[in-house]
Amino acid sequence: MQNIPTAQLLIGNHIDLIKYAKQKLQEVFCQNYSDQNNSCKICNICRQIQEQQHVGSIWIKPEKLYTRDQIQIIFDTIAFKLEENQKLFFIIQNADFLNDACSNSLLKSIEEPPAGYHFILLAERKNQILPTIQSRCVIKSFYQNNNNSADSDIFNIFSSYTTYLPDVYLKTFEAENITEKDTLEILDKLLGFWLKENKNSFLIGDKEKYNLSNNKINILKNAIEYPPMPGSNKIFWNNLYLQLNLT
Ligand SMILES: [Zn+2]
Repeated sequence: MQNIPTAQLLIGNHIDLIKYAKQKLQEVFCQNYSDQNNSCKICNICRQIQEQQHVGSIWIKPEKLYTRDQIQIIFDTIAFKLEENQKLFFIIQNADFLNDACSNSLLKSIEEPPAGYHFILLAERKNQILPTIQSRCVIKSFYQNNNNSADSDIFNIFSSYTTYLPDVYLKTFEAENITEKDTLEILDKLLGFWLKENKNSFLIGDKEKYNLSNNKINILKNAIEYPPMPGSNKIFWNNLYLQLNLT
């Protein structure tokens, strides 16, 4: 079995990240695990991990932004010493929704957790994670495309089923300095992304995603037809944010 880092930060599409985290946990805990066959996926432990019910992992998810109350379970838990060889993982979902105060309160635990404790942080946008947190984690990014606009955080926000808070959107937009030319390029990539989502959700029969992606495609097509006038880029994106997040 590979050496497990005490703190990992995984960057990518949230659904992919959850899948990956479960796989990693199964590799750690499955009793039928072997290097050749990996985890078995069918034993009780593998199933419990799949259902996020396994005792070796605590999954944490924010309601919107994280509050101190929602991460309190981490401090309450690590106050207890684990048995020798026992392992416990905290999976902090949507870690990009940790505010600075919550992030800071976690720093020490993430840097030097008591023996046996591990942290896996999942986030769609790396630049929303405090540098001090990043610097304490092994970072793995799942975004394939190195192309500038497809890799941009604004693209991530608009290519997600998650609704981003206006505050997060605005901060990201300000940070990225998007020109009108970038806008057209990003819109094009977004349309491509949602067309693909639309097709996939149709194929797997996911009605909810199918309808959502349909709406997004219509809004994007309209936006491409009426691109921002010179000087109105920001208003254009704000409108697009509102429209896409109301669907
Ligand atoms: Zn198993």
